[in-house]
Amino acid sequence: MSADQYFTTTVKHVPYRGRFAPSPTGPLHFGSLVTALGSYLEARSQQGEWLLRMEDIDPPREQTGAADAILRALEAYHLNWDGVVLYQSLRHAAYETALTQLIENHHSFACSCSRKTIAVNGGGHIYPGTCRDGLPPGETPRTVRVRVPNKDEIFTDALQGQVKSNLQTEVGDFVVRRADGLYAYHLAVVVDDAQQGITDIVRGTDLLGSTLPQRYLQRCLGYSHPQYSHLPLAVNQHGQKLSKQNFATAIDIRHPGPTLSKALAFLGHPPPAELQGADPALLLNWATAHWDMQNVPRTASICIDGEGK
Ligand code: GLU
Repeated sequence: MSADQYFTTTVKHVPYRGRFAPSPTGPLHFGSLVTALGSYLEARSQQGEWLLRMEDIDPPREQTGAADAILRALEAYHLNWDGVVLYQSLRHAAYETALTQLIENHHSFACSCSRKTIAVNGGGHIYPGTCRDGLPPGETPRTVRVRVPNKDEIFTDALQGQVKSNLQTEVGDFVVRRADGLYAYHLAVVVDDAQQGITDIVRGTDLLGSTLPQRYLQRCLGYSHPQYSHLPLAVNQHGQKLSKQNFATAIDIRHPGPTLSKALAFLGHPPPAELQGADPALLLNWATAHWDMQNVPRTASICIDGEGK
C-alpha cells in the first residue's frame, strides 16, 4: 500500500454533529430559543447534523407537559432536528454503566457529606475532600463524587476564549450520583454526548463553568472532547438568566417570525429589512447561508430588557 492510499483509508473526516439539550423545566423562552437557534445554525451551516436530547433526569425540577411544549415550539420555529429525540429518563442503564466504570477505575468515591457539612468543614461550597480517602467512621454514603486533581483544567472556547480553573480548589470533587439516587447532570450530559457522537457543543454561557468538570469526566471515561462555543446569555434588567423562576414568558408559537428575527439579531445576525418577521423557513434559510460564529457577540450576557419575549 502506498503512503497516499494509507492516508485515504485511515484519515476519516469527522462530520459535524451538534445538539440542543433542553431540560423540561418550563416552556421554551427567548433564552432557550437563542441556544437552540445558535446550535442549529452552526450545525446546518456546516452541513452537519443537529440532534435533540430531552434532559428529563430531574423529575423534581420538571413541569408536566414542558417536554412536549418544547418540541411543538421547535417545530413552529422550523428548527427541525435529525433522528429521534433522546430522552434521558430512558438512559439509566447507560449512566449506571458509566458510574460502575468510574468506581472500578477509582475515579470516584462514596461521600457522606451534605451541603451543610461541606459549608461547615470547608467554609464554602467547594468540597473540602472530607470522604475522598474513605468515609469517616460511622458515616453512611449519601452521594458518589468524582475525585479531581489539584491541577488546572484549561480549554479554549470558540467565543469566550481561554477558560481555566483549578479543579480541586475552584471546582471540587463533584457529585455524579445524588443523595436522592438520581444521576447528576454532569454524568448524564457527558455520557450522552459521547453516545450520540456529538462533535460540537453550542450552548449558553451559564454552562461555561460546567465545561471544566465535564471535560475531566470525559477523560475519566475515555471519551474524546467535543469543541465548545458558549453563546451570550439573555438576561433581564437585573442580570438574571431568563428562567421559570423569574417568569420568562413562553415564546409565541403562532407568530414565530418576529421572535425569530429578534433571536437572530441577538446572535449578531439581524435579518435584512425585507425578511424581518418573515416565515421561519425563509428566515432560517437566509440565516443558514449567512451564519458565521465570528459575528456572534463575544460577551457572557446581553440584557434583553423586556425585549424579545
Ligand atoms: N439541559 C441543560 C439546560 O437546559 C443544558 C445541557 C447542555 O447543553 O449541556 O440547561
